[in-house]
Parts: sequence; C-alpha cells; structure tokens
Amino acid sequence: MKKAEDEKSLILPGERVASIEEFEGGKNTYLAPDGTIRSAAIGNKVLDLKRRIVKIDQKNSPMLPKVGDIVVGYIEMLFSSMISVRILIINDKESTAGFSAIASAKVGGRDRDRRGRVVFRTGDIIRGRVISLLNSTIHITIAEKEFGVLYALCFNCGGDTVRINDTIKCIECGAYEERKLTNDYGKETFRLIHKASR
Ligand SMILES: [Zn+2]
Repeated sequence: MKKAEDEKSLILPGERVASIEEFEGGKNTYLAPDGTIRSAAIGNKVLDLKRRIVKIDQKNSPMLPKVGDIVVGYIEMLFSSMISVRILIINDKESTAGFSAIASAKVGGRDRDRRGRVVFRTGDIIRGRVISLLNSTIHITIAEKEFGVLYALCFNCGGDTVRINDTIKCIECGAYEERKLTNDYGKETFRLIHKASR
C-alpha cells in the first residue's frame, strides 16, 4: 500500500511543483522562465511550510545539466537581449526533462546585424555550453565558434537552408538571413546529433 502511494505522488523532471509566489525552490528544483518552480529530478515533493521552501526528495541520479555540459535545443522565446532555449540533448544524450536555458543574444557585442535585423528566431536549433546555474537558472554561452545556431528552417517559407558564409540561405525560395552560426551548421549535423542521442 505504501508503495502505491509513493508512485502516485512521484514527481517527474520538468513537472511544476509550485509558483514562485507560493514557495522558494529548494533542492532538486529550478525556476522556469514562466515563473514556476519545476522539478529537476524524479522523486517526491516535500513542502517546508514554515520556511516556504519546496524540494524534491530524489529517487534517481540528478538530471540537471552541470557547468561545462554541452546542450542542444530550440529557441522557445526571444527577449530583447536574451534567448530561452528548450533543451533536447545534454552531452549527446536525449533529455526529456523539459529544461530551459537562457543565453545572451548579444554575440560579439551586438544582437542585430548591420541592417538591424534580428539574428535569432523562434525554433532555431541552438548548441551551447552551460556556464552557470546561478539562481537555479541554466545559463549557456553561444559565443564560441562551435556554438550558436546549429540549424534553422527558412523564416519565409519553412524550407531547408544551407550556410553561405555567415548567412543561411533557403534552398526553396532563396531568402537569406544573417545568424550566429556554429562552425558545423547544417541539417545533417543536427540529424546525426539527434540520432546518436536516442
Ligand atoms: Zn524559404
């Protein structure tokens, strides 16, 4: 009977456990960009009502990325100087926990190209390296040459794109746009990384 109860209340990674108005995130939790506290582990939710802290008593090894880890994901939200990336792969292993990471969109001191156009779009596949877990937020850098946009579909028609210098060009409609690209940009690169992670 005890076992059945435990399984019923099992919290999964990425699951909402509280809002920041209600509780402060404790062990094995992180703050999602939508202002909810989420679980970073598989386990049971423990509420400290006196100190107003929520934590997860872990059932398994931690799955939260560490500083230095390489992550691949897609841009879920764009802010004026930041991008939010939903993580799909951590160190070549698929991650279904639903973690989001934050990166500065100011690459090389600018976040727009010379014509004033944005360099990132929602849905772009990003590769970055975890640089900090400050305030339970996963911060990544995309500044180095192997980081940035790994692959993106055409902003105009959704077609496949190829790299031409620092721009991506659509093979369907010919539209092109400047981006901060990885040195191995391309659909095949992402396909291979994705395949190997599963
Ligand atoms: Zn196109």
